[in-house]
Amino acid sequence: MERLMDAIVKPEKGPGLELRKVPVPVPGPGEVLIKIHKTAICGTDVHIYNWDPWAAEHIKNPPMTIGHEYVGEVAELGAGVTGLHIGQRVSGEGHITCHKCRNCHTGNIQWCRNTTSVGVDRDGAFAEYVCIPETNVIIIDENLPEDVVSFFDAFGNATHTALMWDLVGEDVLITGAGPIGIIAAGICKYAGARRVVITDMNEYRLELARKMGVDAAVNPMEKDLTEVMKEQGLVEGFDVGLEMSGSGEAFKQMLSVMRNGGKISLLGISNKPVELNMNDIIGRGLTLQGIYGRKMDNWHQMSYMVQGGLDLTPVITHRFHYTEFEKGFAAMNSGKSGKVVLDWTEKR
Ligand code: NAD
Ligand code: ZN
Repeated sequence: MERLMDAIVKPEKGPGLELRKVPVPVPGPGEVLIKIHKTAICGTDVHIYNWDPWAAEHIKNPPMTIGHEYVGEVAELGAGVTGLHIGQRVSGEGHITCHKCRNCHTGNIQWCRNTTSVGVDRDGAFAEYVCIPETNVIIIDENLPEDVVSFFDAFGNATHTALMWDLVGEDVLITGAGPIGIIAAGICKYAGARRVVITDMNEYRLELARKMGVDAAVNPMEKDLTEVMKEQGLVEGFDVGLEMSGSGEAFKQMLSVMRNGGKISLLGISNKPVELNMNDIIGRGLTLQGIYGRKMDNWHQMSYMVQGGLDLTPVITHRFHYTEFEKGFAAMNSGKSGKVVLDWTEKR
């Protein structure tokens, strides 16, 4: 008989989500069924909830279960899966890649040309169970706090963006104090940056960034960044820039305060084209790196940073039972949130 489970589902094209009973997935050969303990809400889930133009373009086949940030335990192994055992604590890389293209062959799965996403292109993890290929399963040490592991996916974006460059003794500017920007600030301090300055117009989020230990959290509408540089003892500009807002204005502002020869990684996704003076990049010898997803090695780095003392709990602002998911999405949509964690361990 088909087993049923609770799942948070996009029922049809349009706004909203629904808690429904859906069949528990059956792991095929090479697949692993994971019992979900905790999930976290990502900006992508909010796009899907609100049904903005991005969601309308990417969510092709509702009804489907959404969600891709999670921690859980191995519940069942498909045929041929080795090296995992039932009950083992795991999370999962959300990008399912082809293992055949040139980038996959060189281990750069984040650039796979045939990538599909859990919770976007196929059923996701906001459910009692999720099924993924064994190659995407990430073993998680039992001593790591599950609330934090629930958003390792987002932590991975931050890790990928921040650790693209040497940070020891460097001065870093982060534009955008969303959850990923705040996590990146924690990583930069942990990794030895001298000054970490973060910008946002949202005072609630600037305050969260302060709790994460930034040297300055600044509203650029209220304070000039050159003034902040002076206060923080910067002479020639920021050495490293992490663009995490998706705002063209923020990016242009970043370009204006970089040291000649500085390095910038770009994670924020802009919803419209950005007009730039290319000479601001060329004449100043800046290096720009686009960031997509995370590298598989980032998963190792994340566990080790947390074990080494990086405390990401300040970024968690809300915890709800999964049946209260509407409250979680409302918190995300209000802008007055960091990470929102949903608990699946108790059946109500
Ligand atoms: P978020 O939307 O919660 O945070 C973005 C923050 O930027 C907001 O707090 C907003 O107030 C702030 N902001 C807007 N304009 C600004 C400006 N001019 N100056 C300073 N701050 C400004 O997003 P998040 O979940 O923290 O993710 C960060 C970004 O990374 C988003 O754009 C998201 O779409 C993107 N993202 C990219 C990838 C990838 O693989 N490239 C993966 C995940 C997220
Ligand atoms: Zn590939």
